[in-house]
Amino acid sequence: MTISSSYSVKQCLPGFVGFILVLSSLAVGLSSAADNSQEAEPLRDTYSATQVSDSVYVIHGPSGLPNPGNQGFMNNPAFVITAEGVVVIDSGSSVQIGRMVLEKIETVTNLPVVAIFSTHIHGDHWLANQAIHEAYPAVKMYAHPDLIELAQGGEAENWIDLMMQLTNDSTKGTVAVIPDMPVNDGDQIHIGGSIFSIHHKGQAHTTSDIAVLVMPENVIFTGDLVFNKRLGRMDDGNFAGLSETLDHLISLGPSVVVPGHGITAGVEIIRSAKRLNDMIYQTVQEKFEDGLSDFEMKPIVLERTSEFSDWDGFEESMGRIVSLSYLEVEEENF
Ligand SMILES: [Zn+2]
Repeated sequence: MTISSSYSVKQCLPGFVGFILVLSSLAVGLSSAADNSQEAEPLRDTYSATQVSDSVYVIHGPSGLPNPGNQGFMNNPAFVITAEGVVVIDSGSSVQIGRMVLEKIETVTNLPVVAIFSTHIHGDHWLANQAIHEAYPAVKMYAHPDLIELAQGGEAENWIDLMMQLTNDSTKGTVAVIPDMPVNDGDQIHIGGSIFSIHHKGQAHTTSDIAVLVMPENVIFTGDLVFNKRLGRMDDGNFAGLSETLDHLISLGPSVVVPGHGITAGVEIIRSAKRLNDMIYQTVQEKFEDGLSDFEMKPIVLERTSEFSDWDGFEESMGRIVSLSYLEVEEENF
């Protein structure tokens, strides 16, 4: 069983990284140091920071994939104001985006940025660390050990190159400033009267996911474990693992949920993400036992999950998602 090649490579960013690597390892080797000697222009569009609790602000990025129009901005950078300073969660995908995030922080407080949490290896969530680190060199940069290892092992450069390609060089000037403070499940970081609790239950969206629960506000940052009204990518993920992780996040009873992409809401968006994930995976398991191929399953999965059909990228991404789910089921049955 091989993955169908009919889906668009742009629906599969990590797969696309591999594709670039295979075809142009020389170009990758030459990558950002030369290409990024001059910086691309700042973000053209204006964005606002939305206050979602007493001390938490989210800059909701537009939906869609990184492209020249959005200059690579499509995630949800957020910041928490503590007595000691500002804590950024998921800075964004480029130095330009990091500068925009700093501007938004300055509209709310004069306190310095003292820490950054990066929720997983995908570069749209952390490559903007560069701008924050330039402005505040003492900033502490926390992430799961797998993010640190993967980024140091070449994924950082892959993501810089991928962002440049997808945005027609709108992210030019970005260099990787890789987190260097590992955190893992059960860790609690105390900063200026707030507690940042780390949750990681194994491979889910990636192997490097952390969800960050901020107390006493009871706000959770899920990274890409949860998308709001958008079908997430699972190229580096595990469907069964994601289901277990989402159960765990629901059990924490957060008051406010900041997803990796899409609008901030309540715990119901974690329940929706889990329901959709489980419906896809269980349908693929059932139809695998019936001997169907992945492309025969896709219309059945689409029909059973039709309550989610208004989500961004739903139909376009489903073929890829079903193929990946099929591979996971096949491996389990091997
Ligand atoms: Zn991701």
